[in-house]
Amino acid sequence: SEIALDDLPGVGPATAEKLKEAGFNTIEAIAVASPSELANTAEIGESTAAKIINAARQAADIGGFETGDLVLERRKLVGKLTTGCTEFDEMMGGGIETQAITELYGEFGSGKTQVAHQLAVNVQMDKEHGGLGGSVIIIDTENTFRPERITQMVKGLSEKYGMDLNPEEFLQNIHVARAYNSNHQILLVDSATDLANELKEMGKPVRLLIVDSLMAHFRAEYVGRGTLADRQQKLNKHMHGLLRFGDLFNACVVVTNQVMAKPDAFFGDPTRPVGGHIVGHTATFRLYLRKSKGEKRIIRLVDSPSLPEGEAVVAVTMAGLTD
Ligand code: ADP
Ligand code: MG
Repeated sequence: SEIALDDLPGVGPATAEKLKEAGFNTIEAIAVASPSELANTAEIGESTAAKIINAARQAADIGGFETGDLVLERRKLVGKLTTGCTEFDEMMGGGIETQAITELYGEFGSGKTQVAHQLAVNVQMDKEHGGLGGSVIIIDTENTFRPERITQMVKGLSEKYGMDLNPEEFLQNIHVARAYNSNHQILLVDSATDLANELKEMGKPVRLLIVDSLMAHFRAEYVGRGTLADRQQKLNKHMHGLLRFGDLFNACVVVTNQVMAKPDAFFGDPTRPVGGHIVGHTATFRLYLRKSKGEKRIIRLVDSPSLPEGEAVVAVTMAGLTD
């Protein structure tokens, strides 16, 4: 943005510095922040924070309310990323949407990381081939990113389309960071924003942000009574950071999640995703992955604002995710 942070009323050089350190380094990022978030990170009062946010919204032309036609205008920019699978794409109304969080949850080995890898390849393809011509940022909390797997999938796409795609180039457009704990994971979304701004200027816009896995650190760190409120507050901040990223960059945000046993389930599937209502309400699309026979996986669309529930069968093969 052309406007400097300290042009905003109530923001002196010291506050501007604090805001930047906290990752609020553009007017747009401040415009979509919540007052409490800004107050906490920049150590200012909430009413000051609210004033700063209002000023940023005016400067960035982001009002608190939008008319439906403007929402429609922004929705027109929503891109759809192919999964590479016919049924899966159809179930999603064409593909994985930008400006939204898509959650993949399921048991260990159900294929969450495989789907994430495949999307990191597909998103780099042009529109004609179902991609968004963009680059990728991955926040890897379990050390499961495998460049070798990307190479296999690029070879798979080369075969599928009869093209001579270069795996090396695909790998160069995937930016991976390990997250060592939940705080680090949250901070990495700020770093991702900085990186995405740089890449945008370089003509390599980020169209996919992956967090694999969303909950592993949170689950490991917040155990026992009395920690839940704290955890949910952090998680809320994290989820909104992710949503904001998707809106700012018109990017798909894909997170993976674990499941736990529902002790009170007598009917239906006895598992549910972890993370409680915060994750449940912030994820726009929730997909439940299950193992089936051999390489087959069943993917169920559990929750979506505008699509019916449904199921799709896909296969995880050497060449990647296929019909
Ligand atoms: P999770 O849901 O735990 O993230 P993964 O996405 O890591 O699960 O899925 C792991 C499964 O993916 C393996 O059990 C295997 O069935 C399949 N898989 C992994 N790599 C390959 C490959 N190169 N070829 C075929 N199947 C693979
Ligand atoms: Mg995994």
